[in-house]
Amino acid sequence: MARQPSSDPPAVREDLCRRCGKCCYEKLRIGDEVVVTSVPCPYLDTRTNLCTVYAYRHRVNARCLSVEEGIRAHAFPADCPYVRDLPGYRPPLPVEAVPGAAELVREAFGAAAGGPDSLRGGPNDA
Ligand code: SF4
Ligand code: SF4
Repeated sequence: MARQPSSDPPAVREDLCRRCGKCCYEKLRIGDEVVVTSVPCPYLDTRTNLCTVYAYRHRVNARCLSVEEGIRAHAFPADCPYVRDLPGYRPPLPVEAVPGAAELVREAFGAAAGGPDSLRGGPNDA
């Protein structure tokens, strides 16, 4: 996503990001699995796939994850350069792949966007 100068640690190579925006969709942890939903972060411009608050995203969105946090939370899709070659990494699953997930996602994101166990995508360095 919208990469601009950031406070990420130097070890994180922001130029790896292809700005696809995929990590900025709500996710829900269900047991040992994480599912990715079609609910975008409110700060994601879904036309451009860029973060509209990138430079200060962690200030306005406490749930926006750093790269390291995103990896631990399984927030990145399999084709994301941050995790593509990471041994043992498990990407979030489509909602349809986990029995019962659709109803839980509806409960979590129906009225209020995001329940206590929800995870919001990523570093939109990403
Ligand atoms: S980088 Fe963070 S604040 Fe920006 S759109 Fe993605 S999840 Fe939202
Ligand atoms: S960090 Fe997010 S926006 Fe960047 S390539 Fe990975 S999934 Fe796409």
